[in-house]
Amino acid sequence: MEDTLIIIKPDAVERGLVGEIIGRFEAAGFEIVRMRMDRLSEEEARRFYDEHVGKPHFPRLIAYITSGPACFLQMRRDGAISRARTLVGCTDPAEAAPGTIRGDLAIDLPRNSVHASDCPEAAARETAIIFGA
Ligand code: ADP
Ligand code: MG
Repeated sequence: MEDTLIIIKPDAVERGLVGEIIGRFEAAGFEIVRMRMDRLSEEEARRFYDEHVGKPHFPRLIAYITSGPACFLQMRRDGAISRARTLVGCTDPAEAAPGTIRGDLAIDLPRNSVHASDCPEAAARETAIIFGA
Protein backbone atom coordinates (compact mmCIF):
# COMPACT_ATOMS: atom_id res chain seq x y z
CA MET A 1 0.00 0.00 0.00
CA GLU A 2 1.08 3.56 -0.72
CA ASP A 3 -0.15 6.94 0.57
CA THR A 4 -0.57 10.20 -1.32
CA LEU A 5 -1.63 13.73 -0.38
CA ILE A 6 -4.65 15.11 -2.20
CA ILE A 7 -6.01 18.66 -2.00
CA ILE A 8 -9.48 19.66 -3.12
CA LYS A 9 -8.56 23.25 -3.86
CA PRO A 10 -10.60 26.39 -3.01
CA ASP A 11 -12.29 26.71 -6.44
CA ALA A 12 -13.74 23.20 -6.08
CA VAL A 13 -14.80 23.62 -2.43
CA GLU A 14 -16.51 26.90 -3.34
CA ARG A 15 -18.44 25.20 -6.18
CA GLY A 16 -19.65 22.33 -3.98
CA LEU A 17 -17.49 19.64 -5.58
CA VAL A 18 -15.98 18.03 -2.45
CA GLY A 19 -18.35 15.05 -2.50
CA GLU A 20 -17.99 14.53 -6.25
CA ILE A 21 -14.18 14.53 -6.09
CA ILE A 22 -13.89 12.31 -2.99
CA GLY A 23 -16.40 9.96 -4.65
CA ARG A 24 -14.14 9.60 -7.67
CA PHE A 25 -11.20 8.60 -5.45
CA GLU A 26 -13.34 6.15 -3.44
CA ALA A 27 -14.72 4.61 -6.64
CA ALA A 28 -11.10 4.15 -7.78
CA GLY A 29 -10.31 2.16 -4.62
CA PHE A 30 -8.73 4.85 -2.45
CA GLU A 31 -9.21 4.77 1.32
CA ILE A 32 -9.27 8.02 3.33
CA VAL A 33 -6.59 7.86 6.04
CA ARG A 34 -6.80 11.46 7.34
CA MET A 35 -8.84 14.49 6.30
CA ARG A 36 -8.62 18.22 7.16
CA MET A 37 -10.86 21.09 6.04
CA ASP A 38 -9.09 24.40 6.44
CA ARG A 39 -7.92 27.65 4.92
CA LEU A 40 -4.13 27.49 4.56
CA SER A 41 -2.06 30.26 6.10
CA GLU A 42 0.29 32.06 3.73
CA GLU A 43 3.24 30.55 5.63
CA GLU A 44 1.93 26.97 5.18
CA ALA A 45 1.15 27.65 1.52
CA ARG A 46 4.66 28.96 0.83
CA ARG A 47 6.17 25.91 2.53
CA PHE A 48 3.90 23.56 0.61
CA TYR A 49 4.76 25.12 -2.79
CA ASP A 50 8.43 25.76 -1.93
CA GLU A 51 9.66 24.33 -5.27
CA HIS A 52 7.66 27.00 -7.15
CA VAL A 53 9.31 30.00 -5.42
CA GLY A 54 10.55 32.44 -8.07
CA LYS A 55 8.33 31.16 -10.89
CA PRO A 56 6.12 33.79 -12.57
CA HIS A 57 2.91 32.09 -11.36
CA PHE A 58 4.04 31.78 -7.70
CA PRO A 59 2.25 34.89 -6.31
CA ARG A 60 -1.01 33.93 -8.06
CA LEU A 61 -0.69 30.34 -6.85
CA ILE A 62 -0.27 31.43 -3.21
CA ALA A 63 -3.16 33.94 -3.45
CA TYR A 64 -5.41 31.24 -4.93
CA ILE A 65 -4.58 28.38 -2.55
CA THR A 66 -5.12 30.67 0.48
CA SER A 67 -8.28 32.29 -0.95
CA GLY A 68 -10.74 30.04 0.91
CA PRO A 69 -11.14 26.68 2.60
CA ALA A 70 -9.61 23.61 0.98
CA CYS A 71 -9.98 19.92 1.81
CA PHE A 72 -6.77 17.94 2.50
CA LEU A 73 -6.78 14.16 2.32
CA GLN A 74 -4.18 11.51 2.99
CA MET A 75 -5.35 8.71 0.67
CA ARG A 76 -4.19 5.09 0.43
CA ARG A 77 -4.21 2.28 -2.14
CA ASP A 78 -1.73 0.23 -4.19
CA GLY A 79 0.21 2.58 -6.45
CA ALA A 80 -1.67 5.54 -4.95
CA ILE A 81 0.68 8.22 -6.28
CA SER A 82 0.58 7.34 -9.98
CA ARG A 83 -3.10 6.30 -9.84
CA ALA A 84 -4.06 9.63 -8.32
CA ARG A 85 -2.08 11.60 -10.92
CA THR A 86 -3.90 9.65 -13.69
CA LEU A 87 -7.29 10.30 -12.08
CA VAL A 88 -6.48 14.02 -11.69
CA GLY A 89 -5.22 14.63 -15.26
CA CYS A 90 -2.91 17.26 -16.80
CA THR A 91 -1.97 20.38 -14.81
CA ASP A 92 -3.67 22.71 -17.32
CA PRO A 93 -7.42 22.01 -17.38
CA ALA A 94 -7.49 23.01 -21.06
CA GLU A 95 -5.24 20.03 -21.82
CA ALA A 96 -6.70 17.54 -19.31
CA ALA A 97 -8.56 14.61 -20.89
CA PRO A 98 -12.31 14.11 -20.47
CA GLY A 99 -12.93 11.64 -17.64
CA THR A 100 -10.15 13.13 -15.50
CA ILE A 101 -11.08 15.35 -12.56
CA ARG A 102 -9.38 18.40 -14.06
CA GLY A 103 -10.73 17.62 -17.54
CA ASP A 104 -14.29 17.43 -16.25
CA LEU A 105 -14.39 19.94 -13.40
CA ALA A 106 -11.47 22.38 -13.31
CA ILE A 107 -11.53 25.99 -14.55
CA ASP A 108 -8.09 27.27 -15.63
CA LEU A 109 -4.60 27.87 -14.21
CA PRO A 110 -4.10 28.14 -11.30
CA ARG A 111 -7.73 27.08 -10.55
CA ASN A 112 -7.29 23.41 -11.45
CA SER A 113 -9.40 22.04 -8.56
CA VAL A 114 -7.07 19.32 -7.21
CA HIS A 115 -3.54 18.59 -6.12
CA ALA A 116 -1.95 15.12 -6.04
CA SER A 117 1.62 14.37 -4.88
CA ASP A 118 3.98 13.57 -7.77
CA CYS A 119 6.45 11.17 -6.04
CA PRO A 120 6.91 9.35 -2.71
CA GLU A 121 9.25 12.06 -1.34
CA ALA A 122 6.69 14.77 -2.14
CA ALA A 123 3.88 12.72 -0.56
CA ALA A 124 5.87 12.37 2.69
CA ARG A 125 6.92 16.05 2.73
CA GLU A 126 3.41 17.34 1.94
CA THR A 127 1.72 15.02 4.45
CA ALA A 128 4.07 16.27 7.18
CA ILE A 129 3.27 19.91 6.34
CA ILE A 130 -0.49 19.37 6.33
CA PHE A 131 -0.96 16.82 9.11
CA GLY A 132 2.27 16.98 11.13
CA ALA A 133 4.61 14.01 11.41
P1 ADP B 1 0.67 19.88 -10.60
O1 ADP B 1 -0.31 20.47 -9.59
O2 ADP B 1 -0.04 19.20 -11.73
O3 ADP B 1 1.73 19.01 -9.95
P2 ADP B 1 2.70 21.98 -10.87
O4 ADP B 1 3.43 21.32 -9.74
O5 ADP B 1 3.44 22.28 -12.11
O6 ADP B 1 1.41 21.12 -11.29
O7 ADP B 1 2.08 23.34 -10.36
C1 ADP B 1 1.49 23.47 -9.08
C2 ADP B 1 0.24 24.32 -9.20
O8 ADP B 1 0.59 25.65 -9.59
C3 ADP B 1 -0.73 23.84 -10.29
O9 ADP B 1 -1.57 22.77 -9.88
C4 ADP B 1 -1.51 25.12 -10.57
O10 ADP B 1 -2.52 25.36 -9.58
C5 ADP B 1 -0.41 26.19 -10.45
N1 ADP B 1 0.21 26.47 -11.76
C6 ADP B 1 1.08 25.69 -12.44
N2 ADP B 1 1.46 26.26 -13.60
C7 ADP B 1 0.82 27.47 -13.65
C8 ADP B 1 0.78 28.55 -14.58
N3 ADP B 1 1.49 28.52 -15.70
N4 ADP B 1 0.00 29.62 -14.28
C9 ADP B 1 -0.72 29.67 -13.15
N5 ADP B 1 -0.73 28.68 -12.23
C10 ADP B 1 0.01 27.59 -12.46
MG1 MG C 1 3.34 19.49 -8.70
